[in-house]
Amino acid sequence: MNLHGRSFIGGILVEESVATFRAISPLDNRPLDPEFHECALGAVAEALMRAEEAFPVYARITPNARAAFLERIAEEIARTGDALIDRAHRETGLSAERLVGERGRTVNQLRLFAGVVRDGSWCDARIDRAMPERQPLPRLDIRRMLAPLGPVIVFGASNFPLAFSVAGGDTASALAAGCPVIVKAHRGHPGTSEIVAAAIVRAVEASGLPGGVFSMLHGSGEQIGVALVRHPLARAAGFTGSRAGGRALFDAAASRPEPIPVFAEMSSLNPVFILPGAMRERGEQIALGLKGSVTMGAGQFCTKPGLVFGVGGPDLQAMTEALEKGIRETAPATMLHAGICNAYRSGIDSMAKVPGVVALAMSDAEALPDRTHGEAVLFTTDIDDFLLRPKLHEEVFGPCTLLVTAGSLSDLVRVAQRMEGQLTATIHATESDLADAADLIGILRRKAGRLVLNGYPTGVEVCPAMHHGGPYPATTDERFTSVGTAAIQRWARPVCFQNFPAALLPEELRDENPCGLVRMIDGKFTLASV
Ligand code: NAP
Repeated sequence: MNLHGRSFIGGILVEESVATFRAISPLDNRPLDPEFHECALGAVAEALMRAEEAFPVYARITPNARAAFLERIAEEIARTGDALIDRAHRETGLSAERLVGERGRTVNQLRLFAGVVRDGSWCDARIDRAMPERQPLPRLDIRRMLAPLGPVIVFGASNFPLAFSVAGGDTASALAAGCPVIVKAHRGHPGTSEIVAAAIVRAVEASGLPGGVFSMLHGSGEQIGVALVRHPLARAAGFTGSRAGGRALFDAAASRPEPIPVFAEMSSLNPVFILPGAMRERGEQIALGLKGSVTMGAGQFCTKPGLVFGVGGPDLQAMTEALEKGIRETAPATMLHAGICNAYRSGIDSMAKVPGVVALAMSDAEALPDRTHGEAVLFTTDIDDFLLRPKLHEEVFGPCTLLVTAGSLSDLVRVAQRMEGQLTATIHATESDLADAADLIGILRRKAGRLVLNGYPTGVEVCPAMHHGGPYPATTDERFTSVGTAAIQRWARPVCFQNFPAALLPEELRDENPCGLVRMIDGKFTLASV
């Protein structure tokens, strides 16, 4: 496939270029063709103006037309064939098998959101009918629903080059809500981004939509990324990546004259608590599952378990030995890009230097720098050192974990109380363990977005009940999810109509319920008309 290396604004290629860069394949550290062109700041204003022009048209097309558009994007991406998988493999080092699976997830997400749009109930329509006879004061007719925010900025994530990048969950949910999208492409996989962006542009054209519904810009985060978020026409942003990057964009958005939300998913240690009964009954089996969860995808998942807690004793010792063996047998794996690999190496180097921390095991095979390898590592420490050292509370993105030995169950409660916000928290427990775990579960409910029992946090199902979010620093807004159908709610705001005639109401709020929605009428959910 011939790549042009240009940004897209509303289907038109951007000619102006302020700098060029190439993707570097982490498989062999060699640059890939072609050159990609970073756009000038003028492209930011142009993309946002086109998005703003497109917004009133796109927000008002029928749910069926919007759903068909999402399905068309899915179809175009499904048709990209081996060209997309080959390019993504060379740019990210991820295996073809993983990427085929990820493309399937991307396509399914788009189709899932098409279903959400057709169903329409996501708009949370509520109607409180007028009560002219009410005493002491009459009630007016009041109707409310969610409406799209306007142009949304999406930052493609490096670790899901398809499912959380150009046409990933953020883009799919924002387009589903009725918002035009401008993607700031991740420089780790610019060719993959171009192939997917071209698929979206074809879908925009085939659906007869205004071009400004979708744009994708290449450029530096600190310049193009910040300028996109600070532009007065941008209404919200979605981000997955580092805490520093997410926080910089959040702060840039908050310091605008008119602040906007940035939904950033940033860092999480995903603690795993193995309670004594489970440790005794199946410690070695848990060790095997943990090894898989820590090292899968070279540990480059936001839900990788980076902390494991157990109560000291022979059962923990047996589990530790099984985990050590698993880590030693894990071959070093190619990481997504040199930046992530270097950050991982410096993360494990600094962890090894923290007083009280011991590196118990690492991959037996040598990590090859020219293949951007990260080796698997198991560290250990005790609970007092863990509580004393802030460094141990930071995410290390890659295939390592820290096993912390506690003295008792109450130590586990104490450590959970001191934890920052997390995407997930996992408990391994028997029924009798659970009888003593109410305090721990109570605290973890406040610390994490998803609680996992007797399982592993990696592998996030895309479904209506999923919550992939959590208190800061896991995300910048713990009320929302970035995975699953509820992700659409980030891109909408409530609008209330008081005393409006039927002809001026949106269809979703009309008496006869022409969209066939489940609505709340006078406090009760119903499919009925008014
Ligand atoms: P990143 O450095 O945060 O970059 C993500 C995106 O944000 C890129 O498009 C980047 O643009 C932009 N960006 C970064 N810093 C910025 C800033 N100060 N202002 C404006 N935009 C900025 O993430 P990454 O390259 O994917 O990986 C780096 C580290 O992030 C990893 O080592 C890991 O620690 C963490 N990470 C975490 C997760 C997670 O799910 N928790 C996922 C991926 C990565 P430029 O590249 O052009 O600067």
